[in-house]
Amino acid sequence: MTQLQRLAIAPTQLSAQRIALTPEQQHYLVRVLRLRVGDRFIALDGQQGWLAVLRDGSTAEMLERVEAEAELPVSVTLLIALPKNGMDDVVRQATELGVGCIVPVLSDRTVLKPSLQKRDRWQRIVQEAAEQSERQRIPEVKVPQSWTAALQLWNSQNSTCYICAERGDRLHLLQALQRMPDPNLADMPPSVTIATGCEGGWTADELEQAIGVGYQPVSLGSRILRAVTAPLVALSLVASVCEAMPHPSKTI
Ligand code: SAH
Repeated sequence: MTQLQRLAIAPTQLSAQRIALTPEQQHYLVRVLRLRVGDRFIALDGQQGWLAVLRDGSTAEMLERVEAEAELPVSVTLLIALPKNGMDDVVRQATELGVGCIVPVLSDRTVLKPSLQKRDRWQRIVQEAAEQSERQRIPEVKVPQSWTAALQLWNSQNSTCYICAERGDRLHLLQALQRMPDPNLADMPPSVTIATGCEGGWTADELEQAIGVGYQPVSLGSRILRAVTAPLVALSLVASVCEAMPHPSKTI
């Protein structure tokens, strides 16, 4: 199954099990990948992967759901105060590491004021990265928003939330994650939210605001990481704890 090519499709292309392929997708499947009628591929509808079969040059049919084997057992949201440079790489690499949702935040010290086209560009990068990483889910990039607005939507009411704080004596994110209930044993994928600052860091007010809605301030180690490095370190830790590390509550 993993050798099959992946193609992202929009919900508007679907009617029942039928996929109406766009001219670009037709070109890609038939001319670039040289698929023929009856050949199979994986269609990604944003939430999950489907085994699909090419019916003719312009339509395909979804056959069955592909079990989500490339997704993390937690749903991870990254709240990232926009760095001045390097956001393209962050969204690509965050997707490789299994992020579920990326929320660009305009914090007090954010310099960049991105246009709406930027968000669309990041969404395209995420889509390509999800296909390349053979993920079933395509992470969503939200419209850039203020810190206050972001905290209203992503807080401890619906997620376990951490804010990466480079100063102060904080618990390491790794230790904080190891105290979470084992996501592999939960009925529903639990949700984790990670917030990282821009080059200038968070203001004291922003940090307090986050703590006020239930964020736990955490450290990523003794060195100050760049604004583009910190989110990747944090996401690597989440993925490692969920996927690779023995968890105390698991029976051996
Ligand atoms: N210029 C700031 C540093 C900003 S680092 C200063 O000197 O204080 C950018 C962001 O990366 C921070 O806001 C924080 O969210 C994250 N970060 C960097 N290093 C970190 C560390 N060691 N622990 C936790 N978060 C860190």
